[in-house]
Amino acid sequence: MSRHSNTLRAQSPGKLNLTFDILGDLPGGYHEVETLMQTIDLADELTFTFEPAEEFLVEITSVEFAGPTGDVPLNQNNLIAKAAHLFRKNFPDKPDYKVSVHLRKAVPVAGGMGGGSGNAAATLMVLNKWFKSPFSDSKIAEMASKLGADVPFFLNGGTQIGRHRGNVLSKVDLSNELHFLIVGPKLFGLQTAEVYGAFDENKVNGTATISATECAEALKGGDEKSASQKFGNVFEPIVFSRRPELQFIRNRLTELGGLCTHMTGSGPTLYVFTADKAEAESIQRKLVDEQRDVTNGWSNHCDLILNSWVATSTKRGVIVA
Ligand code: ATP
Repeated sequence: MSRHSNTLRAQSPGKLNLTFDILGDLPGGYHEVETLMQTIDLADELTFTFEPAEEFLVEITSVEFAGPTGDVPLNQNNLIAKAAHLFRKNFPDKPDYKVSVHLRKAVPVAGGMGGGSGNAAATLMVLNKWFKSPFSDSKIAEMASKLGADVPFFLNGGTQIGRHRGNVLSKVDLSNELHFLIVGPKLFGLQTAEVYGAFDENKVNGTATISATECAEALKGGDEKSASQKFGNVFEPIVFSRRPELQFIRNRLTELGGLCTHMTGSGPTLYVFTADKAEAESIQRKLVDEQRDVTNGWSNHCDLILNSWVATSTKRGVIVA
């Protein structure tokens, strides 16, 4: 940032859940989760402009979609506004500002990639920088946790295991880059709360087969083929049974190649974990060709347009410039 400017910019990446399991219940109606999370090089861009004002105001002035459009609130329900107001509440004795935010979404909205959570983490980091770091990293992490279970992860990003609600984090040091083809079906997807509700009805806590630690260890060992067998998401059977077209896409992606195909978070975004970038690109080409061919299974099974992105793992969370 130049101090002559009243503008700060940030990038907040999307994440993939390489593993996602529910171990049990926590007080307050929360679920105890265990998940191996990974940031990727698909990121939203946020531009914050600060002007002195009589009271603290946050306005999301505009949202631009770099990829597929989605339903992003422009009012105080936006996680950016919620994060800014929480920051301000913890920092009461300073001059007020009007904070205007322009948001450019690249991370698919409501897709299980934590886009909104990343935006909230970016907001806390930008405000801390603008006000010359009144808060320590741990205080910022505490505020992040209040905004949502996924928000603390985005402060540092990279590869981390999330436990408790997903907000108690341990860093995993991976030296190798991971490659993915991300596939976002434009389904009128299930809401996250609906997926958790369906999970509760079935009550199958702890798959005992999906282990974030084992997956992290296997990835650290550098054998991606055997690591890919440790990937998994406890929500897949629930979501696939309610959205058979997603199961169809998953099966077809598995046939097209890659090491494994899974759903991130509560979906509906799927990702193919691949040996390298070239393999992800090759699957993407096959996918585009297949969807153009109206005589094959795609048109019979699902009237869907798929967006896809070749992505690589990153070692960082939010970047504030
Ligand atoms: P979650 O699993 O937490 O529901 P997600 O990763 O599936 O999240 P997000 O893109 O974070 O998906 O969006 C979740 C919901 O939050 C959407 O319904 C969206 O309208 C709302 N939302 C609020 N603020 C934002 C924001 N800044 N960016 C994207 N969505 C936002």
